[in-house]
Amino acid sequence: MLSWDHRPTLSTMGRERAWVEINHSHLTHNIQAIQALLAPGTDLMAVVKADAYGHGAVTIAQTALQAGATWLGVATIPEGIELREAGIQAPILLLGATNTVEQVRAIAHWQLQPTLCTEKQALIFAEVMDSATQPLPVHINVDTGMSRLGVAWQQALPLAQQIQRSPHLHLASLYSHFATADDSDLQTLHCQRDRFQQVIQTLGDHGIVPPMLHLANSAGTLVESSLHYNLVRVGLAIYGLYPAPHFRDSIALKPVLQVKARVTQVKTLPPHTGVSYGHRFVTQRETRLAVVGIGYADGVPRLLSNRMNVLLRGQFVPQIGAITMDQLMLDVTDLAEVHEGDVVTLLGHDQDASISADDWADTLGTISWEILCGFKHRLPRLSLSSPATATANPLTLS
Ligand SMILES: *Cc1c(COP(=O)(O)O)cnc(C)c1O
Repeated sequence: MLSWDHRPTLSTMGRERAWVEINHSHLTHNIQAIQALLAPGTDLMAVVKADAYGHGAVTIAQTALQAGATWLGVATIPEGIELREAGIQAPILLLGATNTVEQVRAIAHWQLQPTLCTEKQALIFAEVMDSATQPLPVHINVDTGMSRLGVAWQQALPLAQQIQRSPHLHLASLYSHFATADDSDLQTLHCQRDRFQQVIQTLGDHGIVPPMLHLANSAGTLVESSLHYNLVRVGLAIYGLYPAPHFRDSIALKPVLQVKARVTQVKTLPPHTGVSYGHRFVTQRETRLAVVGIGYADGVPRLLSNRMNVLLRGQFVPQIGAITMDQLMLDVTDLAEVHEGDVVTLLGHDQDASISADDWADTLGTISWEILCGFKHRLPRLSLSSPATATANPLTLS
């Protein structure tokens, strides 16, 4: 008889339909492999913006800190608050812009560390911090060629002097960001580094020596150690993906995330039958069709319709017809056996076969960063090995 003593909850529904598996021992491996490239004393910032690139910010941050990262990088104040509310105490740099009085108050309250780019912004921060007992650590982002956020490299000095003059602000670091570090042509990268050096020199000539300097993202970290300075800000590589194929030889990274879903129905269609919205696939032969419970609302791009394979029972299987919001279809005619409840691997490995976010990105003409960030909260994140036991117990589902 069915017992109702056990109350189904969100957390017990984890692997019912579709989910993301996070391998914390791979994260630990990646962080340690990156650290092995760094000179002793060079810090590693785990960039966990955008919910840790779709992996789940809190658990990723916890494992990253345990593995040896000492800083966390986020884009927005709410992303920082989420980490603080989870009890994380490591320094958190806000990589995005913050300008309003309300934002300054939130930053001070939650002990986040802002990026400053303009004198007007520094003025607002200094005014709001006027009544605080401790000066607020702030970081100057200097634009050396990315042409995104940051004070122009020729104009960094007045901003640094303004911060230096304010008793309410403490200049904690000077940093810049690469535009082309994943390019095998290093000319632009070296130009940016030279401009960064010039800013350091100019500030030094005026008696301003920022306690920390940092320049490298994942690609910059892998290019050469002269770019590491005191800290590297690594996102993509800690998640086990390469910023570009030519970095494959420089380090062994292991993908942290896998995306899986279950077959929900199996049926046979006669030849010349249209499949899914718009009938963008029409069967040529009698076709065994498997319906899978995952769709574009979960982060499987609809543009992959008719253009992707998945793994089922260790074999590549073509996806057919338009990917819908919550479901997609597979042609499983060539598989010996398929059953409802079978696990389909969309990203990750199944026996000896694997599919990477790079495969999806290549098909779509985009980058793996965008693929990873696309996985939505409707997919529960299941930890392969809990953050606390990442190295001790790599294979238990928690
Ligand atoms: C996102 C970001 C990073 C991390 O970039 P990856 O290429 O994912 O390593 C580093 N620095 C800044 C300023 C960023 O915005």
